[in-house]
Amino acid sequence: MAGRYDLVVLNARLAGSGAPTDIGIRDGAIAGKGKLAAAGAAETFDAKGLLLLPPFVEPHVHLDTALTAGDPAWNESGTLAEGIAIWTARKARLTREDVIARAERTIRIYLGYGVLHMRAMVDIGDPKLTALQAVLELRERYRERIDLQVTAFPQDGIVSCPDNEARMEEALRMGADGVSAVPHLEATREEGVLSLRKAFGLAERKGAYVHVFCDETDDAASRFLEVCASLAIATGLSSRVGAAHANAAAYYNEPYFQKLLGLVKQSGLSIVACPLINSVMQGRYDAYPKGRGLTRIKEFKRAGINVALAHDDIRTPFYPLGTGNPLDAAHMAAHLAHMCGRAELAELIGMITEGGAAAMNLGTAYGCRSGDFPEGAPASFLLFDAEDAADLIRKRPSPRYVFRRGRLVAETAPAATSLRDDESFLRV
Ligand SMILES: [Zn+2]
Repeated sequence: MAGRYDLVVLNARLAGSGAPTDIGIRDGAIAGKGKLAAAGAAETFDAKGLLLLPPFVEPHVHLDTALTAGDPAWNESGTLAEGIAIWTARKARLTREDVIARAERTIRIYLGYGVLHMRAMVDIGDPKLTALQAVLELRERYRERIDLQVTAFPQDGIVSCPDNEARMEEALRMGADGVSAVPHLEATREEGVLSLRKAFGLAERKGAYVHVFCDETDDAASRFLEVCASLAIATGLSSRVGAAHANAAAYYNEPYFQKLLGLVKQSGLSIVACPLINSVMQGRYDAYPKGRGLTRIKEFKRAGINVALAHDDIRTPFYPLGTGNPLDAAHMAAHLAHMCGRAELAELIGMITEGGAAAMNLGTAYGCRSGDFPEGAPASFLLFDAEDAADLIRKRPSPRYVFRRGRLVAETAPAATSLRDDESFLRV
């Protein structure tokens, strides 16, 4: 007799509930939970009480710039301007092989950290769209292991660099999923608004999403989030709109910010905060006291707006650090957003899981909803050697095991440190 399940994962501990539970999987989907008879399974996997989490989501990463830090030069000032200058020199000699090698390694690093859904930014400033072609190729190659959304990103602007409008359209034709804009880097407020109109118009016509680099500056006068919200409403793109960074919001006056919260809530767009890079890029030109380099995560979240956290750059001309572990972003946010309460730490885990899934508009392609894994959902999950959300953010371990649609796709052996005590080494 064929078993009821292809696989039963025994003794997994769901976050928030103490008792271990079993997960039955059939055809890559959740087919049962609770105390399941292992006899009805073709295969079993004993989780031995490990903490079970939904997959991590990375809603904003640059696969084309990843792993280029120091080539051709190090960004010694640490500024955005120097980063852009170095990247401009580097991108002049991009080849397919170069992008494939770095982007593939980056995807594999993310997989090890339990990221199964990723939204990639790819600069389309190169007329040959070499990087875009390479990342689209990887999207197909890794389709069975990771959901990759590819964003045509006009780093040099749309109005400032008019060729980018046609290139974004070409990128969509080639298979990109979404478009972007960088309104605060356009020459004037009006041109910034125009760049957003062009990006939203294109997305609306082509059925793409919009993922805006929005107000990534400490300039309190940079108010493009309101334009994104207004256009999200006018076009009906709603939850298909993401506003990344939104740093200027930290400097808005309170009456204006309160009005903005209502508009953003109504629009259905997601805020994608990038705590790692923004902690070093922002606050840079402030006199003391200095800003903390992060958008108002807590306030957006409390207002009922979806907030996701992104890890963003990994060893780029803009940020020389970065591991690819989403828990690093949560750790930085816990500090900069003053979110170290136990419930708040759990909320931060929500922002690298379900919050990210909502920002990527994944719908039922993401298995977990409101902390639960309904039957029929994809059997994709992570197993961690950690007590709870606070412990995860404190230790930032790799998942011991990463399951994707019922299949083990990555595992990490635990690190073990021993100290010499008297006659023998003892584990710390
Ligand atoms: Zn970025």
